[in-house]
Amino acid sequence: MKHSDNSRYKIAAVLQIALPLLLLVPNVVMSAWSSMPWPAFVANLAAPLGVYLLLMAWSANAGRSAVMMLPFSILAAFQIVLLALYLDGSVIAVDMFLNVVTTNSSEAGELLGNLAGPVALVLLLYLPPLEAGVAAWLRRERTPSLLRRRCAAAGATLVVAGGVCMLVASVTLPRYKADREVFPVNAMCNLAEAVSRTVRTARYADTSAGFTFGATDECESGSRRRIYMAVIGETSRADHYQMFGYDRFTTPLLCTVDSLVGCPRVLSESNTTHKSVPMLLSTLTAAEFGDSIYHHKSVITAFREAGFHTVFLSMQNRNNSFIDFFGSEADTTIFLRESLGQHICDTDLLPVVDSLLDVAADTDPLLLVVHLYGSHFNYEDRYPRSEAYFLPDKASEANQTHRQRLVNAYDNSIRCTDRVLHGLITRLDSLDCPGGLIYTADHGEDIFDDERGRFLHASPTATFAQLHVPMMLYFNQSWRGENPDKWKCALSSCRQEISSSESFTPTLMHMAGISSPRLDRTSALTAEEFTPVATRLFVNDRNEAVDLQSAGFRTQDYDAMRNFGFSYF
Ligand SMILES: [Zn+2]
Repeated sequence: MKHSDNSRYKIAAVLQIALPLLLLVPNVVMSAWSSMPWPAFVANLAAPLGVYLLLMAWSANAGRSAVMMLPFSILAAFQIVLLALYLDGSVIAVDMFLNVVTTNSSEAGELLGNLAGPVALVLLLYLPPLEAGVAAWLRRERTPSLLRRRCAAAGATLVVAGGVCMLVASVTLPRYKADREVFPVNAMCNLAEAVSRTVRTARYADTSAGFTFGATDECESGSRRRIYMAVIGETSRADHYQMFGYDRFTTPLLCTVDSLVGCPRVLSESNTTHKSVPMLLSTLTAAEFGDSIYHHKSVITAFREAGFHTVFLSMQNRNNSFIDFFGSEADTTIFLRESLGQHICDTDLLPVVDSLLDVAADTDPLLLVVHLYGSHFNYEDRYPRSEAYFLPDKASEANQTHRQRLVNAYDNSIRCTDRVLHGLITRLDSLDCPGGLIYTADHGEDIFDDERGRFLHASPTATFAQLHVPMMLYFNQSWRGENPDKWKCALSSCRQEISSSESFTPTLMHMAGISSPRLDRTSALTAEEFTPVATRLFVNDRNEAVDLQSAGFRTQDYDAMRNFGFSYF
């Protein structure tokens, strides 16, 4: 009996001290990772540890206290998995919380399958204390009162010390804000922001109801048939395009198109799909995105106002956010996976485009907006096995060791995009009316490119590889014949410094001859007024427009920019 009591005493004592220390694991990793100055470093360790110790000492029932700490355990586990995923030392972002509700389950499954190690680690760290806590609570075990008092005293001391360090950091460190630096306070603030955005998004139908482009069709040929295609790729890196100098055959078909206008120096203003695509499809840029997105509609509405028949064709799944809202503005909205299933490739859209072109009335101008699945991870699922050109392309795990296999699969997916774009261009060429296409991707991707070991996109801090996107324009002979001035402008603008977020919609409207008070011609590549982008901006996790340095660019990113001929740093 006595032996049993001793065991219980030990379990309670271990819980009382071990759980606060386990919850501190993400703080230790993040503080060390980001080389925080000492006041911020100490604050990020002392204050949270103090609070955890106080919370555990609050009740004599250590088991109940441990179970009540479950939300902290979940946050810590989520944070550790993301640290392993993005390797940039950032806190759980607002976008990460939103991704949980917007990313479809199959996509999330793909990611989690590649995070087996970190997931196993957090289960090992936080499940045993939870089990021990439940058991202790059920048995109503009490923590020795001396231990509780000592933990409470230590906790209070640490909280005071942490508070003092926060004060010192606030005074001595520029840009230091405790609510952004101290975990889990920063994660909880981000969660609150995510909830707020979700509420505002739910009200979007009301807040955007009065929006109008005041658009008119300025084309002299009036109602004569014209076809425009706006194609948005997914996770595509310009430096993996043969047509932009990559030394592998990733765009063999596009390289045969003489009059293709390629833009090599383009950056996106976001590294996440759900911000970048709405910016591409609207007149919003990083500077206005955060506040204005809830009140704006997409370029599809501008074309509808101007009398075009509009089609939105998506190869992705719905995500209950702005891409869906914008897509639903079209006369015809198609999410192809809903009818053909999940195991399709982007090339499967070509027969659908054929039937859309067949049924479109001979006199109707048409806008077709296509949202590709492009090169989203898992790369090898983005193309049919028969099209696996670079081999081997199967990586059992996503890590630095398998980089070449991942790159092979990634490049195979670019070849798939090459076939899609070439297929659309061929269809424009076969028309007996003017037609044009504009293509870019929402963002790029890290694929273990340098010693930082970074992978994927949508991390709170961006890299050059995540923002450097391909962009191109194509116009058929009939369009070039009718629009010689715009054609000339496109040829000279394409070599300039361009922001895809800023130029995609204005160029699409301008090339189609659509006029609107909201059209800024200085951003349209086909306009004489076009002006290269002066300041590079990025929408950060809090939806603020920041410069590239604040976005997280480091020496490696600036070197890569320089190598690609960018001039603004
Ligand atoms: Zn994306």
